Amino acid sequence: MSKEIEKKWQEKWKESKLFQSDHDERKKIFLTVAYPYPSGAMHIGHGRTYTVPDVYARFKRMQGYNVLFPMGWHVTGAPVIGIASRIKDKDPWTLDLYENVHKVPKNEISKLEDPEYIVKYFSTEYHNVMDDMGYSIDWRREFRTTDPTYKKFIEWQIKKLKKMDLIRKGNHPVKYCPHCDNPVGDHDLLEGEGVGVNELTLLKFKIIEKNDNDTNKDNGDNINTANNVKYLVPATFRPETIYGSTNLWLNPNVEYIQVTSDDSENGTNGETWVISKESFDNISNQIKDLKILGDIDPETLIGAHIENPVTKDHHPILPASFVDPEYGSGSVFSVPGHAPADYIALEDLKNNKELIEKYSLKDIVNKIEPLNVVTIKKYSEIPAKDVIERLNVKNQEDPKLEEATNELYKVEHSKGIISEHIPIYSGERVSIARENIKKDMISKNQATIMYDFAEHPVICRCGTKCVVKIMDNQWFLKYSDEEWKDETRKLLRNENIIPAEVRSNLEYYIGWLEDWACSRRIGLGTKLPWDKQWLIEPLTDSTIYMSYYTIAKYLKDINSEDLNDAFFEKIFFDNDINIDTIDKTQLNSIGANIDDFRLKVDEDIINEIQNEFSYWYPLDWRLSAKDLVGNHLSFHMFHHAAIFPPENWPQGMVVFGMGLLEGNKMSSSKGNVILLSDAINEYGADVVRLFLMSSAEPWQDFDWREKEVVGTKRRLDWFFEFAEKIESIKMNKNKSSLDLSNIERVDLTRKIDLWMMNQLYIRINDATTALEGFQTRKALQDSLFLLKKDVDHYMYRTKHLLEDPDEALIFVLSSILESWIRILSPFTPHSCEELWAKYGGEGFVSEAEWPIKYQYFPMKCTPTLNLKVDSCIPSEVIEKSEEMVQSIVKDINEIKKIVDVTPEKIHVYLAPNWKWMLYRIADDVGKPDIGQIMGRAIGENIHDNKKEIAEVAKKVGREMTKTRYIGKIDEYEVLSDALDFISEEVGSEVIIHKDNSYDPQNKARNAMPYKPALFME
Ligand SMILES: [Zn+2]
Repeated sequence: MSKEIEKKWQEKWKESKLFQSDHDERKKIFLTVAYPYPSGAMHIGHGRTYTVPDVYARFKRMQGYNVLFPMGWHVTGAPVIGIASRIKDKDPWTLDLYENVHKVPKNEISKLEDPEYIVKYFSTEYHNVMDDMGYSIDWRREFRTTDPTYKKFIEWQIKKLKKMDLIRKGNHPVKYCPHCDNPVGDHDLLEGEGVGVNELTLLKFKIIEKNDNDTNKDNGDNINTANNVKYLVPATFRPETIYGSTNLWLNPNVEYIQVTSDDSENGTNGETWVISKESFDNISNQIKDLKILGDIDPETLIGAHIENPVTKDHHPILPASFVDPEYGSGSVFSVPGHAPADYIALEDLKNNKELIEKYSLKDIVNKIEPLNVVTIKKYSEIPAKDVIERLNVKNQEDPKLEEATNELYKVEHSKGIISEHIPIYSGERVSIARENIKKDMISKNQATIMYDFAEHPVICRCGTKCVVKIMDNQWFLKYSDEEWKDETRKLLRNENIIPAEVRSNLEYYIGWLEDWACSRRIGLGTKLPWDKQWLIEPLTDSTIYMSYYTIAKYLKDINSEDLNDAFFEKIFFDNDINIDTIDKTQLNSIGANIDDFRLKVDEDIINEIQNEFSYWYPLDWRLSAKDLVGNHLSFHMFHHAAIFPPENWPQGMVVFGMGLLEGNKMSSSKGNVILLSDAINEYGADVVRLFLMSSAEPWQDFDWREKEVVGTKRRLDWFFEFAEKIESIKMNKNKSSLDLSNIERVDLTRKIDLWMMNQLYIRINDATTALEGFQTRKALQDSLFLLKKDVDHYMYRTKHLLEDPDEALIFVLSSILESWIRILSPFTPHSCEELWAKYGGEGFVSEAEWPIKYQYFPMKCTPTLNLKVDSCIPSEVIEKSEEMVQSIVKDINEIKKIVDVTPEKIHVYLAPNWKWMLYRIADDVGKPDIGQIMGRAIGENIHDNKKEIAEVAKKVGREMTKTRYIGKIDEYEVLSDALDFISEEVGSEVIIHKDNSYDPQNKARNAMPYKPALFME
């Protein structure tokens, strides 16, 4: 299919406004897919995401629904700011990405220094490529999230949430580049994409003067001065293990420093902390005014003691090379009872004579015994030892150590109970005690919170190591609010989720989500109305925008200043706000003024917009990729639950898998992508669509493999050839070309014609059911691959007719083509329009009816639109009859092969009536119970010869487990009808016998229902 032809149809659809959907009397379907963030060119992964809703929209339109499929551009957020500044800085990696991966023309590159231009450039590009793909989008509703009208919509909803007390203020850790002085997203990173930020508890261990300590009274340095107490502050995931602490690890090969600050809220409280030099950047971004007091030699600390902040026990400081200076604060407190790494490190140290000697640790180390904190079934008091021994971990360097650590962490977290001898918390589950202990220690100034990356390093594109920075006075959406969670759960219960297994993920995330920082310092977007130094972050400004599509086409003609709270309240809830009843004291806190509650838009326009919204809402389907389940899709549910009444809650959700390219993960930043525009130029939009829809179901990962794409192209070419073939058969017959809108109907009598129509019905029926559930792959299996197999079979069976076709054949072939173009048109709309027009179809096939309702089928059924399609049962008799013809041919040819002669005549004997009766009785009995079958057969007196009944009953018993009984069929009629075909296939004369008057070798007695007996001579 040439690009010109595809373009032609796109123009025609546009001219006739085919996909502009306005409210009317018909039933509606409103579906949306996550709008793209256009910071780069569209690749084939995006192609799948947007083709699925298009196929469904086209399918539903053909079923008679009024379908709305809109599109917008999510241009808010910070990534483009970073991209723009890197382009300005002529960063080679970024320039290469935009020139060679995103293929931006040279003369445009410098314009991308403006972030607004980036989103304008790529949203235009997306729009064009979506047109090239033939998407049936109502473009009148297109918008960007920086449009003034959209910003008013966002302001309204954030004010509403604030008023509902679902937003609070607090501090928030972000990934941050100290050099760029900006928060960074995954787009901005050179290394560490997707690395999470962990919350750790930083525990304060007071350092005891060496000569203070009764266990080790040597002449060490006086470490603490009277009023300057120093602390080592190891950070941990597991503050509850403080009760099992036996020593502290310090790395003698690392530089340590002393720091302090006056931050009273979250800091050192004027204490002096000893931390590694490498951890300073991170910690100083979390604790205000952290000052370096000077270096400290770790050697002077080793062998000294610290005081456990909770138990007040004294523990020695010991040397360990495994301590990572970058993680936490560069020291580790040791819990050998429950941390396999500590257990093995202690064993290693005990065996390291050199170190023991160097720091004179012999007495100290030998005294250390692991302590128990947590009790777990099937583990001893010292679970770390159990795991180390079971996994045979040899030393600290053993790779199995990580497995041991992970296992114990998981088991203790999920099944551990705080042991009896631990005060206060004994009997509590570890997961609960952990939080309680942490809170308690923080309140007593024994601990504080710090944040660190889950993995190191995280490096900005500028080359600087990133840190976790605490942003003050941040605004949060209160997703932890239990009432809000409950409403959201209610919403989820009433929603269709495809695939079904995603439901439990959504349930999990609704429970798991904590308060979400919804404001940012930099980026494009809408300002918080009550605190204008903040911008609303991009996941927060894209939660209920589906409602905005329903009204977007009207807003273009309205002054954005008039789109105030009064307007949106009226449109969405028909709320008339009485100015007098407004609590004026609240206005300031939500950043509103009284004028925002005065309706400024004309009433008739309001009515029109209201009608449009209430017609399309609720949303029928929300489509999105699976990586958005835990954020966007969950937020989408939360916000609908908070803002809209239940009758306007979303009805369904479809979650997509990801895209692979020749088996590898697609990634623009790694250059591993194929641009959708390139794929269209190479293969045509229809081939791309067909491949994307047929290679995997939407929720499965798909793999773009060039070889298979080429195969898909051949399929589509074959379809065109098939249409041409039918046209030429028709021309041969009556010198007139195909006219799909005037197919001359013929009453079919030939079994094979009935069979073909029956198969056509089955395939359409199955494809319809599949498409209802978004199974695009299954739908194409049925409607393209299996139907093609049926058609191949039919053409083979009727090959002797093709030279001189009769009316029935013409009718069947035309009907197939006519239906086939319709079913394929959601998948390959351009090709189908072209064929439809070429062979006389009326109007656009995109507007034609879905081919279940009107088609002539030989079966008794009256399917109607919106009726369950399975109310029409395809004919089993027709299927079985063709099966019989095929198996007779197969049986004869197999016997011929065995005996290796070509018989002149082949005699076919059919089962007598009493055998059919026996089969029916067996079917009634329902199992191969020969005694029972025999009993009933004799009772019904079906046959005189009991011995024969017994013989056949045994056969039926065997047969019935393989062959389904569907009632008696007229085998004589079926085989006679196919006699020409059978004779030709076996190369002999075939005689069907109604009785066994000629049966020289007594073969007729072998005949069984559906399985005639054969005799060759
Ligand atoms: Zn940077």
